[in-house]
Amino acid sequence: MEKEVSRKRRVAILGSTGSIGRQALDVIRQHPDRFEAVMLSANNSWETLCAQALEFHVKDAVICNREHFGKIRDALSGHGTSVSCGMDAVCRIVSDPEIDIVLTSMVGFSGLESTVAAIKAGKTIALANKETLVAAGGIVTGLALKHSASILPVDSEHSAIFQCLQGAHGAQVEKIHLTASGGPFRTWDREQIAAARKEQALRHPKWKMGSKITIDSATMMNKGLEIIEARWLFDVAPERIKVVVHPQSIIHSMVEFADGAVIAQLGHPDMREPIQYALGFPERLGLSSRKLDFASVGTLTFFDPEPDKFPALGLAYEALEKGGNMPCIMNAANEAAVAAYLQDRIGFYDISDIISSCMSDGLFEEDPDIDAIFETNREALALAGEKIDRLSGKTVTDNFQH
Ligand code: MG
Repeated sequence: MEKEVSRKRRVAILGSTGSIGRQALDVIRQHPDRFEAVMLSANNSWETLCAQALEFHVKDAVICNREHFGKIRDALSGHGTSVSCGMDAVCRIVSDPEIDIVLTSMVGFSGLESTVAAIKAGKTIALANKETLVAAGGIVTGLALKHSASILPVDSEHSAIFQCLQGAHGAQVEKIHLTASGGPFRTWDREQIAAARKEQALRHPKWKMGSKITIDSATMMNKGLEIIEARWLFDVAPERIKVVVHPQSIIHSMVEFADGAVIAQLGHPDMREPIQYALGFPERLGLSSRKLDFASVGTLTFFDPEPDKFPALGLAYEALEKGGNMPCIMNAANEAAVAAYLQDRIGFYDISDIISSCMSDGLFEEDPDIDAIFETNREALALAGEKIDRLSGKTVTDNFQH
């Protein structure tokens, strides 16, 4: 019998000029018969967005920063792409009936609004923006259920867990083993880490990613965010989510079942694989990538995380346990602190100190709605900003005195 030819999946990529967005376009480039990019959005990189829109002949291109609107509109004029600007345009256009899948790969909390808009339009979400589930996990998963929108993970660990669960037939998950590379400071001692400059923190041993997530990997807050993301994606209690440091990053995560059997998903670190799995789900397509040769890998090693060196992990469990808007406070404080660290305004351990202090001082709400989450984010950013100002003022004085 002749196989039915499936229609191309029409993909919107929010954050198409970032690391995930560019790799998603590479997947689409490899499968022009299966996928079609129809909408692209970017925050600031209008020239890259423009080149992408021309290459993929997309229907819509949206630049969030209004300053660049005129330039990209002129550059794309007459090419069949309509150009819009602003987050409200992104939120409006994602509901276009011509879009099947929305890949959310914006950075940080800024992804929440458009992800919610796509869910409300019943789109399939390929979720690369973990902060959405960190800040508003219960609300977002509730909306997805209400609007019959599937959320497919793109984060490599969560894609691994999702893949391990295929064929589990709803079996009770005993434990999720979330693997962590350990980041660039895994073998450093606390004093060395305390003095780490951003150039060192930005040198991730295994994954090439954007600067925010790379700093999150160095502090291990990335793993903290992923614990919360896993809790919501797989509806698993926090005490069943365990982090294991695995420096080779070959095992991307594992699921343990009641009988003690552990299923793992393996591969060389390459984000195109989880991106493609989400876009093509439930089918597996070919990918021109480096394949595993076990003999040349040789050894896989595992370690317990070191909470004294990486306090962010404990903060994430604490925020998850507290619930309500606490993960949102934690996430906002982290975003502000990471930005300040990247501007050389604060030291490495100031990041976790600021998060911890915002979690103590922030206004806790047990059952926030989506508006309250936006309000919490604003307040927590402001609170973290004050703490950063005080701290960076002090750091300058200290340096001056020494
Ligand atoms: Mg990850």
